[in-house]
Amino acid sequence: MTAADFVPPDRSLEALRGAACDCRGCSLWEHATQTVFGEGAAHASLMLVGEQPGDVEDKEGEPFVGPAGRLLDRALEAAGIDREQTYITNAVKHFKWRPAGKRRLHQKPSTTEVVACRPWLVAEVEAVQPEVVVAMGATAARSAVGRPVKVTQERGQVVQSPEGWTVVPTVHPSSILRADDPSDREVQFDAFVRDLSAVPALLVRR
Ligand code: SF4
Repeated sequence: MTAADFVPPDRSLEALRGAACDCRGCSLWEHATQTVFGEGAAHASLMLVGEQPGDVEDKEGEPFVGPAGRLLDRALEAAGIDREQTYITNAVKHFKWRPAGKRRLHQKPSTTEVVACRPWLVAEVEAVQPEVVVAMGATAARSAVGRPVKVTQERGQVVQSPEGWTVVPTVHPSSILRADDPSDREVQFDAFVRDLSAVPALLVRR
């Protein structure tokens, strides 16, 4: 079973968001609080895709509202991109985690889970019709492009998905947060901003 069994005939964002609440396309729903569907401008030129909701997103039900989201906000602002004009989602809509004492530690979704959840991303892209999809991190790039992507080699480049989407892979903001020291974090942040800064030139509609 995959999410394809749960995508409704009505492909409006509202209908998709409602149906995704009851998705059982893989086992990740069992230990998550809720489905975290995409949010943002309904006809955004730019769609941003992350890996999966984190601990904060799982509790609040919204994408990129935790620490990685705050870093993304700063990077978008530095790149001259208005978050309100974008649509933000994740490749996988449920939080995958393992317990560590009282904490819930993020676990990378498997390829099977990413593939199982891809029908939701496809439906979101079909509904929003973005000109560019920015895929943040290897999992998002894998889902958006439909094949494994080496982000270190392909970041900032324009890649086509099998459906003809224009995809720009880059790093995930949480990888910048995990950098060992502040100067390394700053270098990585600047590189992330450089990748994002090149995107507006690819947009015709704005
Ligand atoms: S992760 Fe995706 S496919 Fe799996 S249950 Fe959640 S919404 Fe469905």
